[in-house]
Amino acid sequence: MKNITVLIKPSSSDCNLNCKYCFYKDSSRNRETYSYGFMNDDTLESVIKNTLDQEIFSCNFMFQGGEPTLVGLNFYKNVILLQKKYNKKNIHITNSIQTNGINLDESFIKFFKENNFLVGISLDGPKYIHDSNRKHYNDSGSFDDVISTIMLLKKYKVEFNILSVVTKYSSKLVGIIYEFYKNQGFTYLQFIPCIKEYNRDCKSIERDYYLDSNTYYKFLDTLFNLWNEDVINGKFIEIRNFMDYINVIKGYNPTSCGMGGFCSLHTVVESNGDVYPCDFYCIDEWRLGNIKYNSLYYIRRNDLAKKFFERSIYIHDECKHCNYFKLCGGGCRRNQEPFINGIPSHNYQCESIKKFFDNNLKKLINLAKYYI
Ligand code: SF4
Ligand code: SF4
Repeated sequence: MKNITVLIKPSSSDCNLNCKYCFYKDSSRNRETYSYGFMNDDTLESVIKNTLDQEIFSCNFMFQGGEPTLVGLNFYKNVILLQKKYNKKNIHITNSIQTNGINLDESFIKFFKENNFLVGISLDGPKYIHDSNRKHYNDSGSFDDVISTIMLLKKYKVEFNILSVVTKYSSKLVGIIYEFYKNQGFTYLQFIPCIKEYNRDCKSIERDYYLDSNTYYKFLDTLFNLWNEDVINGKFIEIRNFMDYINVIKGYNPTSCGMGGFCSLHTVVESNGDVYPCDFYCIDEWRLGNIKYNSLYYIRRNDLAKKFFERSIYIHDECKHCNYFKLCGGGCRRNQEPFINGIPSHNYQCESIKKFFDNNLKKLINLAKYYI
């Protein structure tokens, strides 16, 4: 193994916002323990030491939540000290953090700049769209706090990108959202369609937020065509969703796990040290071990880890005969829940993805020539 990404949940599922669509709160409600609280110093030290003991050349520590800034700046200062202490093999280390942006003061932001953190900010568009879901516990919107933080990130020249969760409601306003981001000068965007919830039996159920096939298609098609025109006119904005298709067309690997055709084994570490194979599966059934007591090397190779991987290599008959398999890979296995007797269902977004390629593949191939 040459590179590893370790996704750390310093504050478990705790968050200072009360977004209704939060997939991590939903997953956590399906565990015996909803939140493991804040990660303590001993656990953090185990995570960093255990990770840097691996035979790797590079490592990305990625902090997510819940809201990972809740643990405070000293936690992250300790991260840097421990990385220096245990990096005996001169491994190339990078750090990134995904945050709702409402708990970041100047000292946090200066720290991110000084230590080269890549910051992902969760923002869902202009105020009325963002505030419709991303609310404080007193029901007030969080948009103004996020924008203040973005101004500070710009002031201190911290590298950041925007991650937007797309709901059934906001998907219909994607043109407005995209225009807003362009006016703000944001150039790195990622859109995440809201996924179906688990229930206690780990079967997906429908709810108000997730996009049905037709809505998802319209969202993809509208956004892509706006972006296509911009790229052709020399405005280079990166939208990860489409850049991944272009990468595949150009013969590179996609960055989105779901496009690979099977599950990659991620390393997600909860605040108590428990390790899971994927951010979407931090539930008791898929607890692989605990990084305080087991080597990461063995955790990633144990029987449960193998089972997680093996159940993902099943390819649905429709996907086997699909012209778009190389681009789509059948999609994220979480979109193929429920698994029945270990066999996944067909991707519930398939119809929209097929229709998107039917109507836009030629344009995608044309766009690939604009990127090296
Ligand atoms: S469930 Fe999706 S994101 Fe998770 S490992 Fe599988 S394909 Fe990747
Ligand atoms: S478009 Fe549908 S059938 Fe084709 S690979 Fe993707 S999920 Fe499978």
